[in-house]
Amino acid sequence: MTIAIIAHDGKKAEMVAFAKDHFSIFQNKKINLIATGTTGSHLERAGLEVEKMSSGPMGGDAQIASRIAEGKVDMVIFFRDPLGKHPHEVDVSMLMRLCDVYNIPLATNPAAALRFVQTL
Ligand code: PGA
Repeated sequence: MTIAIIAHDGKKAEMVAFAKDHFSIFQNKKINLIATGTTGSHLERAGLEVEKMSSGPMGGDAQIASRIAEGKVDMVIFFRDPLGKHPHEVDVSMLMRLCDVYNIPLATNPAAALRFVQTL
C-alpha cells in the first residue's frame, strides 16, 4: 500500500518523532512511502525509504493530489499546522478534497495518524 506523508513546517519535528516511533511499520517493504519534498528529506534522514515530490509550496501537495486522483494512494497522513499561514493553501485544500472524492483515509493531526497506523 502507498502512504503519503506531509508535514507543515511547524509540525515537522512532531512528524519525525512519529515516524521514528513507528519505524518498523513504515520500513515494511509492503508499504510504499511518498512525501512532499522537505518532509521526505526528514524521513530519509530518519532512515526511511521514501519517494519525494517537490516541496509543498512548489507543488508537492498538488503532485500527491494527482496521485490520489490516479488511484495510487491508500492513506494520507498530514501533520497540518492549523496556526500557520501557507502560500499553497489552495493545493492543500485540493488534496483534502480529493481524499474525500476518492474516499481515501486522511489523518490531519497526530492523534488521527496514531489511530491510522494502529490499523496497519
Ligand atoms: P514540504 O511541504 O514537506 O516540502 O515542507 C509540506 C507542505 O507544506 O505542504
